[in-house]
Amino acid sequence: MTRRIGAGSLVIATHNAGKLKEISALLEPFGVGCLSAGSLGLPEPAETGTSFAANAMIKARAAAEGSGLVALADDSGLSVGALDGRPGVYTADWAERQWFEGKPGRDWFMAMGKVEGMLQALGPDADRACAFHCVLAIAWPDGESAVYEGSVPGTLTWPPRGKSGFGYDPVFVPEGRQQTFAEIDAEEKHRISHRADAFARLVADQFE
Ligand code: IMP
Repeated sequence: MTRRIGAGSLVIATHNAGKLKEISALLEPFGVGCLSAGSLGLPEPAETGTSFAANAMIKARAAAEGSGLVALADDSGLSVGALDGRPGVYTADWAERQWFEGKPGRDWFMAMGKVEGMLQALGPDADRACAFHCVLAIAWPDGESAVYEGSVPGTLTWPPRGKSGFGYDPVFVPEGRQQTFAEIDAEEKHRISHRADAFARLVADQFE
């Protein structure tokens, strides 16, 4: 049986205030209070893994060892079957620009264009199936761990459509729908997303 987090404090391995807020809201009903690795002054480890699970575990383990508390980390991205799973763990890196509008930053249109260019290079019949993946890793200070994987299948469309969401949302059409993730309202996206799937698995295993 999986080790349980139980009620108490959980370190979220992120320096992103938005992510902390989102995860805190999801776990609050179960009596879990969250604090971030950033607020504890913990360094961000290099994400050297070759899978979402490996990178999530690197982040969770670093936070558990640095804080002495139970830690939760996530890693997510887009995998395109015809591109052998790319961009995969490099999903965010493909948007990286050395200098974007005068400062370092990410250009999502460039990243989506790179995926599309590679698909078009395979010819007009290239398989446009893809999936967003989200892996949640929990690490205990004594070395125990648990991993929960969620995904949402879909297809890639071009050109990008819609204004809500972030990242690759404007080119991702979830299975069974016509609209992209950037055209679907946020509440609906959060209900069917890869993150929702991973969290549902975590909650079922940890709290039910
Ligand atoms: P990380 O999990 O913070 O390392 O980020 C992975 C990257 O995957 C993000 O920067 C996004 O580009 C992409 N990604 C993850 N989830 C979504 C999503 O729901 N919509 C669009 N892009 C996503």
